[in-house]
Amino acid sequence: MRKKQFKTESKKLLDMMINSIYTHKEIFLRELISNASDALDKLYFRSLTDSTVSLGRSDYSISIAADKTARTLTITDNGCGMSADELENNLGTIAKSGSFDFKRENDQGEDVDVIGQFGVGFYSAFMVAERITVRTRVYGSDLACMWESEGADGYTVSSCEKPTFGTEITLYLKADTEEEKYSDFLDEYRLRGLVKKYSDYIRYPIKMAVTKSRKKEDSEEYESYTEIETLNSMVPLWKRPQSEVTEEEYNSFYTEKFFDYQPPAKVITQKSEGTATFTALLFIPSHAPFNYYTKDYERGLELYSSGVMIMERCADLLPDYFSFVRGLVDSADLSLNISREMLQHDRQLKVIAKAIEKKIKSELEKMMANEREKYEKLFDAFGMQLKYGIYTDYGMHKDTLQDLLLFKSSGEKKYVSLKEYVDSMSSEQSAIYYAAGESIEKIEMLPQVESMKKRGIEVLYLTDDVDEFALKMLGKYADREFKNVTAEAAADISEDERKRLDEENRAAEDLFKAMKDAVSEVSAIRFTSSLTSHAVCLTSEGELSVEMEKVLKKMPGADGELPKASVALEINVDHPIKEKLLTLYKNDPEMLKKYARILYSEACLISGLSLENPAELCELISELLVK
Ligand code: ADP
Repeated sequence: MRKKQFKTESKKLLDMMINSIYTHKEIFLRELISNASDALDKLYFRSLTDSTVSLGRSDYSISIAADKTARTLTITDNGCGMSADELENNLGTIAKSGSFDFKRENDQGEDVDVIGQFGVGFYSAFMVAERITVRTRVYGSDLACMWESEGADGYTVSSCEKPTFGTEITLYLKADTEEEKYSDFLDEYRLRGLVKKYSDYIRYPIKMAVTKSRKKEDSEEYESYTEIETLNSMVPLWKRPQSEVTEEEYNSFYTEKFFDYQPPAKVITQKSEGTATFTALLFIPSHAPFNYYTKDYERGLELYSSGVMIMERCADLLPDYFSFVRGLVDSADLSLNISREMLQHDRQLKVIAKAIEKKIKSELEKMMANEREKYEKLFDAFGMQLKYGIYTDYGMHKDTLQDLLLFKSSGEKKYVSLKEYVDSMSSEQSAIYYAAGESIEKIEMLPQVESMKKRGIEVLYLTDDVDEFALKMLGKYADREFKNVTAEAAADISEDERKRLDEENRAAEDLFKAMKDAVSEVSAIRFTSSLTSHAVCLTSEGELSVEMEKVLKKMPGADGELPKASVALEINVDHPIKEKLLTLYKNDPEMLKKYARILYSEACLISGLSLENPAELCELISELLVK
């Protein structure tokens, strides 16, 4: 029998498959099952109009049989089958799938991941098989044909015996090597797992003889026997109406699929028809996976095309700031054979992603309003990601995210949203005040916070590194600016108060000049009326606060040339220290310098800054103690 050559393009692809080092060789099974399912569809549709096809829906099935001795894996269907011509056309030439066109365009580039997460159909079987036979008979025909190939050097088509209609594909598995144990694909457990993973929702039963054991009658011994089992559940959970699915079903689906030991905090279902037709089943985990805040975490949703999984992690379906969401999307609009690279430019996918983002946002907002405690727990786990979302991309997503934020505040030390803060502030208050620090305890020690609290003004407490940067990116909320209480501390004081302060400051100009000679670290020294009990504080002067400077210093790669916060030393105008300083200025300029150093150190410490020279402070204090 004359061997026929594959068409050139098919040959190239075939070569790729045969020599594939692709790690997901297992997808070949998904491809063959999906072809079988298509063949069943075809015969089923024919049966709707052709009265000679006397089959009911339940007569169709796919079966898998592994023969360990012969090292063969056989996939059988009772679908439409192929005629000799069809065999020639379908398996002699690769179907003109999008992925192959794509490969051609990129030929000069590196070995593009065409095999990737996306199937290239039948040929993928050559990743695991050294020889393949296809025996097939069209429904209603007496003739059966066999296609046979050992890969690159061509194929033969001949007639054969086949008592039943449909197609039977037998893979003669490659010999095991160090790297690859092809015989794994004969393992019942493995096969069952692969069907569950990729083809669970194929609408026809996928059957396999499964080995079981039972106790022998009248004996303590066990015997093994085989039983035909259906491996797939056939109806996707997400295709069932939400009202019919129990919470347990959703929960166990989630925990099994996403390997989480805790049920999700929220299940979201979405069905859309219109510009994009899709069903989404999304889960918000109740805690962050251990690797969530590392680069190892892979975001993305599973992507299905009409019940067949085409990608395990489609990152393009989720924005970074919602990367904690798990789940899947099923859309009939996407083709099975689309490559990952093409998918990135797929308009349909973008429409779906946008719709999903909107849905997640509205569900989170609803949760914040109606299930506050749950939302706060969620925010503890993923709030950081939302705040990063505001900060990155130049604040492009702030409208999406700002109402999902929560901050602890001086009010009841509970979480408040920005909206809640603004709604409860008095009409005279012009800005949204915040203070930043390592912990709530440390923030509460800030003199400026103390005085704000005395004046009945709520202060947001920022304890995450990213917080202040995120607020700077927001700039304003509901037309109110964000103000750090350690900057512009004197804001919001009355006209009279301002006048008195200006006068006091003018009168003490020479004193401040003398002190500044000793404290070159600060850009200015002045009185303030916004402190209550404390004698001094540091006030940021520019855009960069003391807290932000600390964060920048901590960042990896930070060295010498970092921007520094410009700070002023402010002295409580109503504190007895004022008189003491004025007296020293007149009588003991040397001692004034020492006082200035001590007060500056004190202000640093209370702002949570470490002292560059702690020994200096200790010496000064000891000196004064023995006086
Ligand atoms: P695709 O499925 O993307 O068309 P394949 O290379 O997987 O590409 O298959 C090529 C063609 O071979 C299919 O379009 C189908 O017509 C035919 N085919 C493959 N498997 C079967 C089968 N089990 N029964 C009937 N026809 C099949």
